[in-house]
Amino acid sequence: MIIDGKAAAAEIKNSLRGAKAKLAVLMVGEDPASSVYVRNKERACAEVGLQSCSRRLPATATTEEVIASVEELCRWADGVLVQLPLPDHIDAKKVLGTIPPEKDVDGFHPNNLGRLMIGEDGPVPCTPAGIMRLLGDVAGKHCVVVGRSNTVGKPLALMLLQADATVTVCHSKTKDLAAFTRQADVLISAVGKPCFITADMVKPGAIVIDVGINRTAEGKLCGDVDFGPVSEIASAITPVPGGVGPMTVAMLLENTVRTKSSKTA
Ligand code: NDP
Repeated sequence: MIIDGKAAAAEIKNSLRGAKAKLAVLMVGEDPASSVYVRNKERACAEVGLQSCSRRLPATATTEEVIASVEELCRWADGVLVQLPLPDHIDAKKVLGTIPPEKDVDGFHPNNLGRLMIGEDGPVPCTPAGIMRLLGDVAGKHCVVVGRSNTVGKPLALMLLQADATVTVCHSKTKDLAAFTRQADVLISAVGKPCFITADMVKPGAIVIDVGINRTAEGKLCGDVDFGPVSEIASAITPVPGGVGPMTVAMLLENTVRTKSSKTA
């Protein structure tokens, strides 16, 4: 079975139609992939009828200038996000810390990550939230997450644990990775390398979630998973594109609408 993230995202977006909330997106520099993501977010807001505003600063902007822009956007919007990655000279921690936790629709503020850690409500990171929505019930399943970034792997591991899964987290220093991935009832790859997960690393009947967004040598979009052979043995698998990506955007819109309603509640 191919897990249709596009259709699931469309359903979520439909349920948000008519909601009133304002999203602001700040981008620094000209990273082409980031430009595509920002455009997708703007388009999704327009589709649902949410107001959005995106601001672009040059790659030469200072941390202070970025912070000043974030503060200004926070005065206008219900939800604010800073598109990552930021240029190296900018203090990303300081910038993300400027967004008030209740407007932090990406769920990256330390307070919100702390809430997630102890199982309290709050905005949660969009990509792992989208994956959880696609997976449904994971109680008792062995979920193996490959990747431990603060934006995907780590928060996802916490959400899976909260949902009563047994969780293994692997990373670049893991020895004999395949020995772990072959045990997975649910295998999630968030590494960023094409054809990284091959069929011999997957247990027959496993659910495979491909978070990776990569380009092949020919410039074609692909995930981390060797899709053809793995889809033959997995019971369900997300495609790239059309799997986790659209869910990430849908969760962002949901977070934005929630920040607005929690303010008025
Ligand atoms: P990072 O580069 O921050 O993290 C990659 C992780 O993979 C690290 O934890 C790293 O380990 C691990 N890793 C690297 N090489 C290996 C290896 N050989 N064996 C095991 N683990 C390895 O990436 P992100 O988490 O930000 O993103 C991962 C992928 O997901 C990217 O392709 C990105 O574009 C995509 N992405 C997709 C989204 C979507 O909406 N679909 C949203 C966000 C990201 P270590 O920590 O030891 O270095």
